[in-house]
Amino acid sequence: MPAHETRFLSREQIAEGTMAFRFAKPAGFNFRAGQSMIVTLLDPPETDAKGNQRSFSIASAPAEADLAIATRMRDTAFKRVLKAMPEGTRVQIRGPAGSFVLDEGERRPAVFIAGGIGITPFVSMLRQSAIEPLERKLYLLYSNRRPEDAAFLRELMALEQRNSNYRIVVTMSGTEEARESWNGERGRIDKAMLERTLVDLLVPVYYVAGPPAMVEAMQGPLAGAGVKTEDIRCDEFFGY
Ligand SMILES: Cc1cc2nc3c(=O)[nH]c(=O)nc-3n(C[C@H](O)[C@H](O)[C@H](O)COP(=O)(O)OP(=O)(O)OC[C@H]3O[C@@H](n4cnc5c(N)ncnc54)[C@H](O)[C@@H]3O)c2cc1C
Repeated sequence: MPAHETRFLSREQIAEGTMAFRFAKPAGFNFRAGQSMIVTLLDPPETDAKGNQRSFSIASAPAEADLAIATRMRDTAFKRVLKAMPEGTRVQIRGPAGSFVLDEGERRPAVFIAGGIGITPFVSMLRQSAIEPLERKLYLLYSNRRPEDAAFLRELMALEQRNSNYRIVVTMSGTEEARESWNGERGRIDKAMLERTLVDLLVPVYYVAGPPAMVEAMQGPLAGAGVKTEDIRCDEFFGY
């Protein structure tokens, strides 16, 4: 994977304990929506046993000028440095990596299933499809514990108005602990929720992304519904 040196541009809080970071896109860095990159901190002011690099799905669309990532801000040296570094700080990125992308020419509906921060590759795909519309239906099933945890929620809901081929279903699995009110779906994404959303569960191609436990948990309902293994693509965020 080619390595590039680039600069940190900006950060933004996008949900509780969750931040997005922008980096300049190096010349010649081309990627497809859904791919990831490895970010390495160069000469950071602190480090720990977990090291100075992490993989992140790229949340910006390929057509955007910058590269964006988004992450849950846990208390690790890597993330403390990310949170505090001044604009212009040099970092290394390696990539793009991964084959979690939409197949070109595929016309069957794509169903995106995201648990928490697993939303990032789908943000890239959906932003790109708002710029370059696709001739296929896109469904996003997005699960979080509480509304305040749901990154990019407003943007992803607003995209529905701009793309008649796209539908979003948002569910919260822990509303009893929420401060924000929630009137939408509750509970985890399961076969019943899929059946309420989709006409025929066996037609679409499924894309599942998030922490490994969530990605694994989704295999059951999909396999139970008779979805073929080759129609289920997974992106596991190892490290969570
Ligand atoms: C393809 C891919 C895409 C990802 N996309 C995102 C994203 O968009 N947003 C996000 O927040 N996180 C993403 N992650 C997870 C991310 O790399 C971090 O592991 C996570 O953010 C936790 O980091 P931490 O500093 O909070 O925790 P830590 O407790 O420091 O955990 C990170 C630990 O996981 C280890 N690790 C990293 N990759 C692997 C691996 N492949 N197998 C086993 N162990 C590994 C690291 O070496 C490190 O020790 C992705 C991971 C992968 C593999």
